Amino acid sequence: MIPMSLAQVAAVMDGKLSESADPDAVVTGGVEYDSRKAGPGGLFLAIPGDKVDGHDFAEKAAAQGAVATVATRPIDGPAIYVDNGIDALTRLAKHVAAASRARIIGVTGSNGKTSTKDLIGQLCARLGPTVATEGNFNNELGHPYTVCRVEPDTEYLVLELAARGIGHITQLCEIAPPEIGAVLNVGISHLDGFGDIETTARAKSELPRFLAAEGTAVLNADDPRVARMAEATRAGVTTFGIEQPADVTAADLEPGDGRYAFTLRTPGGSARVRLRLYGLHHVYNALAAAAVLWRLDAPLDALAEWLSESGRLSERRMDVFTRPDGTTVIDDSYNANPASMGAAVRTLGQLPTEGRRIAVLGLMADLEEQSETCHRRLGEQARDAGIDEIIAVGDGTEPIVDGADGVTATHVPDQAAAIALLRSRLRPGDAVLVKGSRYRTWDVADHLRAKED
Ligand code: ATP
Ligand code: MG
Repeated sequence: MIPMSLAQVAAVMDGKLSESADPDAVVTGGVEYDSRKAGPGGLFLAIPGDKVDGHDFAEKAAAQGAVATVATRPIDGPAIYVDNGIDALTRLAKHVAAASRARIIGVTGSNGKTSTKDLIGQLCARLGPTVATEGNFNNELGHPYTVCRVEPDTEYLVLELAARGIGHITQLCEIAPPEIGAVLNVGISHLDGFGDIETTARAKSELPRFLAAEGTAVLNADDPRVARMAEATRAGVTTFGIEQPADVTAADLEPGDGRYAFTLRTPGGSARVRLRLYGLHHVYNALAAAAVLWRLDAPLDALAEWLSESGRLSERRMDVFTRPDGTTVIDDSYNANPASMGAAVRTLGQLPTEGRRIAVLGLMADLEEQSETCHRRLGEQARDAGIDEIIAVGDGTEPIVDGADGVTATHVPDQAAAIALLRSRLRPGDAVLVKGSRYRTWDVADHLRAKED
């Protein structure tokens, strides 16, 4: 964190120091709410949870060297007493962002935020010290938590911005105002909970709307709802895309084995990129990242090389591995919605394999009245992508089987049944995709990942 005295932190948080707290003690570490991570120089944020109450761990945090505990009820040891822990953390994050010289990049969209944020984070780290949202830690706790990790020498702060309602992205932007804001796409996404796609678009457009005139909106030219956001921003606009004319594009696309190669074209020149990431959707994410890095003046040849080297994203996202028996697995089980499911089955269809292509597909949750149509269409897409066998897992996935008319497709009630069926079907050389909303197919993916079968 940017070093501050405890008195300063208390003032910023609008809190009160306990008598045992030393106002001149300097806080250098960030804020941890997991007492196991609270360490020397840091603050411990005690959050009352459903199962455990952070306040019960204040002494432990102090024993580990935490300077003070941010608390909402009396504790032993040095404390900053506040009315609400998350509000206090948010105030601190605002202060840290304002005090930092880091260039702030925000990423939003219905699909690919974490993947693109990871790419941008990895690329920025080549340019200088970078702090990026960890995994999917993008909520009202994760956002200010991430901002408080900024150090005096941090040059880039890369933030995943999730919209769960109208006004939410504006609130996140107010904590750490982005200089560059990228909007990836607008689609039906389970967590959005907006009801309709135009409302989803309005929520995402809060990012370009927020940007100052000196900022840059990075917009997907191939997604009409995103492209239109150019009209809603005072900032400069850099577009990316494949189909429509754009500032940053991918020419001479070669699908390869599902890992695309392309010529990255920017207004500053062209360079060949060979992605390690699978699927056309990652070309879009790579273009968005390239557009951001181009705005940050990254040298083009280096950028193309770095993009080609970028590999590991957050877990369960297009994670492709080969098992000792020679089967290839795409673990994309992190979550699922119509766009990401379509992208994943198309990627499985492109994966070179000597065996068969098997898709284990779980529920796309929260689609409500659109659920049946979307699952049926997924079955059709899987068939059209050349998938040989489908295992549809759990309640609500039955229409996948109906849609996949002509393909061997079985509906099973749960993950245990899916694992049993897979065991009887998998042959060396087969390729398997595992995908569903959240935990709904994680057991299947973990089973395939386990060394012993
Ligand atoms: P969440 O809303 O859960 O935070 P996210 O927007 O952060 O999701 P990721 O976690 O990067 O998205 O990816 C989620 C799923 O979407 C993965 O299965 C991934 O393969 C797929 N995906 C990633 N990028 C795209 C894209 N540009 N278009 C469609 N699907 C994508
Ligand atoms: Mg995410």
